[in-house]
Amino acid sequence: MNIVKELALSLGFDACGIAKAEALTEDASYLRHWLAEGNQGDMHYLERNFEKRVDPRILVPGCKSVVVVLLNYFPPEHQNPLAPKIAKYAYSAVDYHSVLKTKLMELEHKICETYGAESINNNVQHSFVDSAPVLERRWAERAGLGWIGKHTQLIHPGIGSYAFIGVLMLSIELPYDAPAAGRCGSCIRCIDACPTHALKNGSMDARRCISYLTIESKNGIPTEFQSDLSGNVLGCDICADVCPWNIKLATPHDHENLSPWRNDDIKNIDNSMLDWDFEKWQHLTKDEFNRIFAYSAIKRAGFEKMKQNIEIIEKKNLH
Ligand code: SF4
Ligand code: SF4
Repeated sequence: MNIVKELALSLGFDACGIAKAEALTEDASYLRHWLAEGNQGDMHYLERNFEKRVDPRILVPGCKSVVVVLLNYFPPEHQNPLAPKIAKYAYSAVDYHSVLKTKLMELEHKICETYGAESINNNVQHSFVDSAPVLERRWAERAGLGWIGKHTQLIHPGIGSYAFIGVLMLSIELPYDAPAAGRCGSCIRCIDACPTHALKNGSMDARRCISYLTIESKNGIPTEFQSDLSGNVLGCDICADVCPWNIKLATPHDHENLSPWRNDDIKNIDNSMLDWDFEKWQHLTKDEFNRIFAYSAIKRAGFEKMKQNIEIIEKKNLH
């Protein structure tokens, strides 16, 4: 196994693949069309840095290899079934961006020790977690880590789709993995299960997706979707939950730093955020929210937005 992969796995990443840095020509035309149709909704940042998004050599000058790592986040414990639903990626007390970035920095450090400081272009940002113009899922696919399913998420053939993706761009050539082929076959379970009909032909209309509506949408949730939230107030896992690959493969992670918030003052399992019922979420004060979720991905949605979403669920009696 290549040393970079060995280092990544020794640091606790669940998978690692490597792709040659080159222009994503097909993705460029797909993305141009997708944006022109307005599928991005209010996420205007997706319109910026187009050239960088489709060519890592423009994003990181001197980039030759794209190293992609995965971190399984399928939780060992799940939310109280009576609670307003939070997507699994947001369960952890510490935002997954920080968890992954810290690990990517460790990996980078080890790579520099092995290949020399010139293996990384330190003049620009070169490691990415959901935060820059990088098509992470496509790079994961090109790095042999799985395929992008019809629900538009990466499916790793040994982990499923509950995995965070981190990307490190290197200035050295490495042995490259063969891109993975799609294995959805004739299945359309995710498309059928999506309550807002956001999925079509392997593409997603973000404006219809509950993840977008409950977190990103600036103008509240349009009335036409309010009855379709299926109890979700922050993100949505419906299409991932019904995927047969996840049903077969999803295994609880053992990453301590992805543990959910728990009241450590009272060492009592009942004080885990996952145990809260609908009322507890509904009556959470802004101070509590800010204190408890200070470092969590839940904070990104914001207190007001989450409260509004809970009210909609309550009003429609959908929990
Ligand atoms: S996350 Fe939910 S709303 Fe979005 S595509 Fe999947 S099932 Fe549909
Ligand atoms: S539910 Fe079926 S079609 Fe959708 S991503 Fe999973 S395997 Fe592919």
